[in-house]
Formats: sequence, structure tokens, C-alpha cells
Amino acid sequence: MPDSPDVVIVGGGVVGCATAYFLALEGKSVTLIERDSVASHASGFAYGGLSPIVGIIEDDPVLPLSEAADAIHKELAERLPGESGVEYEYRRKTSLTVATNPVEVDALKESYEWLRAHYKGGVSWHDEASVHALEPRVGPSVIAGLMADRSGEVEPYKFTLALWQAAERAGAVMRNAEVVGVSRKAGNISAVRLESGEEIEAGAFVLAAGPWMGKTTEWLGIDMPISPLKGQILRLQAPGDPLAVSLSWGHNYATTKPDGLLWCGTTEERVGFDETPSALGRDTIMSSVVEVLPYLEDAELVHHTACLRPVAPDGLPVVGHAPNNDGVFIASGTGRKGIFLGPAMARVTADMVIGNTPSVDVTGLSAARFSGVR
Ligand SMILES: Cc1cc2nc3c(=O)[nH]c(=O)nc-3n(C[C@H](O)[C@H](O)[C@H](O)COP(=O)(O)OP(=O)(O)OC[C@H]3O[C@@H](n4cnc5c(N)ncnc54)[C@H](O)[C@@H]3O)c2cc1C
Repeated sequence: MPDSPDVVIVGGGVVGCATAYFLALEGKSVTLIERDSVASHASGFAYGGLSPIVGIIEDDPVLPLSEAADAIHKELAERLPGESGVEYEYRRKTSLTVATNPVEVDALKESYEWLRAHYKGGVSWHDEASVHALEPRVGPSVIAGLMADRSGEVEPYKFTLALWQAAERAGAVMRNAEVVGVSRKAGNISAVRLESGEEIEAGAFVLAAGPWMGKTTEWLGIDMPISPLKGQILRLQAPGDPLAVSLSWGHNYATTKPDGLLWCGTTEERVGFDETPSALGRDTIMSSVVEVLPYLEDAELVHHTACLRPVAPDGLPVVGHAPNNDGVFIASGTGRKGIFLGPAMARVTADMVIGNTPSVDVTGLSAARFSGVR
């Protein structure tokens, strides 16, 4: 391990591990500092859906990142299992979004009209009869559906582990420690300080601490109000055949994973840093799932998890230079889409660290959009 690496990364979730991967491939010496273990929070317990942004806001600042993410996942699927030795269950999967009331039908129809003009893939509208023919197990409340073929999925823990294993094989080093502060030389951050008091100096620093990014506010002296949004997921032993499509409705979803279990969720809870699965979360998810898929009423609950999404006040990712802190980069705020967007954010971040112009326009996603420097 070099005494002073080129880059220190704080956080061993998907964003930190992917950044380590891209930087190590570029020949940079990287030390990643993780206080728990790789993917021990949201990156290991997410649903693992890969869904490009298909909103109907044409100048959505996340769209370029979303398009890049789609391409990078395809590219990684070709080489990352071999580079890492980890098979992370990447697959393309058609998604079916269903509506259960007239208001949802109108919103879905609006999306459909927009997608017909803009979606770079196949998209089709299904009325009540058609959606029931597609998946006969949906309940009577389902009255329309929108099918799109650009989605995919991964097993999120294995994916993040694959990124880390490949980074490690390319020379990156992991330190199991908590970063509690920074030191400065001539006004610039020169080292991170560990709980033990040890300092690790580096030429550049990437902060990828997920929902704990808010704590780095003090270190940087900037306003970066990223906070945790809890979500829960159930894994069910479901009777009958697997679901052929990835199903979603409102904020909820269900899909059959390669482990043979039907994964479904989710909740959106503002409860601070509490990562405990709750009975209320379980019941809320089950009642919504059973409304859409009544055959799951007696499914056996095999696993119940909870984790925290990192969310900025405007819901957009935060990526780029830390204002007023030369050599410090921020990569977080991925909300519900970090497994999908993480590798693209990481590549942009790696480009910035190296001094290359990123190939993706992320100007609308800078930390400077918050209230500014304190
Ligand atoms: C229920 C649920 C379902 C989801 N489903 C999907 C999905 O289907 N598709 C999708 O794309 N996204 C999904 N997400 C979102 C995705 O999981 C997150 O956006 C993503 O994992 C965030 O990754 P991260 O690396 O930023 O943070 P994390 O995974 O939280 O990693 C941050 C790491 O930093 C470490 N850390 C923090 N502070 C310090 C410190 N001071 N010192 C050392 N280490 C530190 C933590 O221990 C942690 O390991 C889901 C999220 C939830 C909650």
C-alpha cells in the first residue's frame, strides 16, 4: 500500500466502489475507506432494477447521466464478471407499469405518448384485457399497463462486490475504518482523519458516503443537505411460475430474481438513520402487492430488509467538484436509482479526478446548486 495514494475514496457502496474501479483502471493508486464492509448498506440491499429515466421533462438534467448509465451497464456486463470473478446476474428485462385507477391511467397514458416519440426502445400500451392476458395473475384492480423493453436488473450486492473485486485486482486498497474529519494545508484538504487519529494524505478525495454525506458538510464548509430515505423490501417464496416481466405500480414493484424468490417493495420513510425492517413496512408492502398480485396472499416471507437511500432536497444526484475545496469531489444523492446511475456517476467522477473533460454533461447536478458556500 503506498503511503500516500493518488486518491482516497470515502464509502464502499456502489458509487465508491465503481469510482475506485474506474480510477484503478486508469492506473491511479486508490485507497477506499469503508467503516463497515463493501455494500453493507443500500448498495447491498437494493432491489437492483436498472431503469433508464423515462420522464417527460425533456431538459431533465439527469437524462445524459441516465443514457450513459444504460450504456455503461451493458459494457460492464461484458467484462466485469471476468475481471472480478463475480457473476452478478445482469439481465435485460421488460418492464410493465400498471395502473389501478383512472388518475394513474391518465398519467401512464401521458408517459406513453411521450415515450412513443422519445424512447430509444420498444414501448406498447395495454388496455385492461390485454394487460390481464399478458400476466393473468394480476388482480381486478389493474386496468391498464405500459410495457417498455429497456430495463434490466442485477443482484446489487454481487454487482457492488464485483466492482470492488475488480478494483482491488487493478491495485486499489481497502481500509476498514471510519473517517471522522479532514486536515488542511494552505486552505486545501490534504488528508482525511480516521477515528484512530491516523491521517491519510492523498492528491484527491472522493466523498461517496451515501446518506451520511450530510456529515461531510462540516468538513467541507459547504451546504450539502443529503439525507436518508428509508426503504424496505420483501423476498417471497411465491407459488407458480416466475413473473415474466418486471412489474411496477406507483412507488412499488415486484420481480422474480434468479434466486427463485419474488422480490417486492417498497416504502419511503423519513425516519433518520434507522435501518431496521419493521412490521408496518412489511404490512404496507404486502397489502399493496396483494392488491396487484392477489395470488401472493399466502406467499411465504423468506427475507425482509431495509436500507437508506441518499436523497438531496431536489431529488437529483450530486456529482462534481466540491465548491471551494480543490481536489475534493462529491458523488452521491442517487436516491432510488443508485445501482443504475452509480457507475455512470463514478466514470464522470474518475474523469474529473484525472483532469479529463467528462463525456457526460452533469452541469445541472453540481453541489453548487444548494445554498452555496458557508
Ligand atoms: C429499498 C431500496 C431499493 C432500491 N432499489 C434500487 C433499484 O432497484 N435500482 C437502483 O438503481 N437503486 C435502487 N436503490 C437505491 C440505491 O440502493 C442507492 O441509491 C445506492 O445504493 C447508494 O449508493 P452509495 O454508494 O451512494 O451509498 P451506500 O450504499 O449507502 O454506501 C455508502 C457507504 O459509505 C460508508 N460510509 C459513510 N460514512 C462513512 C465514513 N465517515 N467513513 C467510512 N465509511 C463511511 C457507509 O458505511 C456505506 O457503506 C434502492 C434503495 C433502497 C433503499
